[in-house]
Amino acid sequence: TPGVLEVIVGPMFSGKSEELIRRLKRARIAKQRVGCFKPDIDLRYHRTAIASHSEQTHEASVVTPNSDRLREELFATGLVDRIEVIGLDEVQFFDEGILPLTMELIHLGKRVILAGLDTTFANEPFGPVPNLMALADKVTKLNAVCMVCGQPAIHTQRLGHSQELVVVGAVGMYEARCRAHFQPYVEET
Ligand code: ADP
Repeated sequence: TPGVLEVIVGPMFSGKSEELIRRLKRARIAKQRVGCFKPDIDLRYHRTAIASHSEQTHEASVVTPNSDRLREELFATGLVDRIEVIGLDEVQFFDEGILPLTMELIHLGKRVILAGLDTTFANEPFGPVPNLMALADKVTKLNAVCMVCGQPAIHTQRLGHSQELVVVGAVGMYEARCRAHFQPYVEET
C-alpha cells in the first residue's frame, strides 16, 4: 500500500519545526522507525538535530540540499529499507527533484513529512514547496504571531538590507508579519 505525504508550511516562527518534531516523536512512540533529515544550509542550533525556536529537538542527518544526494543517502546505504517514516525540515532549499523522490518514497509505502517555508521574504513561491503542497495527502498551514500587532502572521519579513540571497537564522534578521504589516523585501541596487 502507498504511504502518505504530509506537508507543513507557514512563515518563520509559525511552529513548523515544532510540529515536525511532534509528529516524529509520536511515530517513535508508535514504534515506527524514523529517519530525519535537514539541509546543511541551516546549522542554527544543532549540527545533528532539527531544532525549533522553542528549543525542541529531534536527531537528524545533515544533508546537502540536493535531491540526488538525498536519494543516495537513502538508497545507496539501504537506509530506506530500515525506516517507515521520513521527516525533512527546510524543504524549500531543495531542487525540483525532491518531487519525484518524494513520490517514489510514497509508492514504497513510506510516510513522508516535509516542513518548509511556502513563500520567500519577497513573497514569491519558495522553490518546490507549492508543488509539494499540490501533491500532498495533507497540508498543514501554520500561522505565526505578527510582531507588529499580534494578529496571525502568514509572512516572513526580512529586516535590514543584506545583499546575500540566503541569510539563515541570523538573530533579528526576520520577523513574522500579518498581511497588513508585511512589506515584501526588495533588493537595493
Ligand atoms: P518554524 O520552524 O516555523 O520557524 P519553530 O517551530 O522553529 O518555527 O518555532 C516556533 C516557536 O517560535 C514558537 O513556539 C514560539 O516559542 C517561538 N516564536 C518566536 N517568535 C514567534 C512569533 N512571532 N510567532 C510565533 N511564535 C514565535
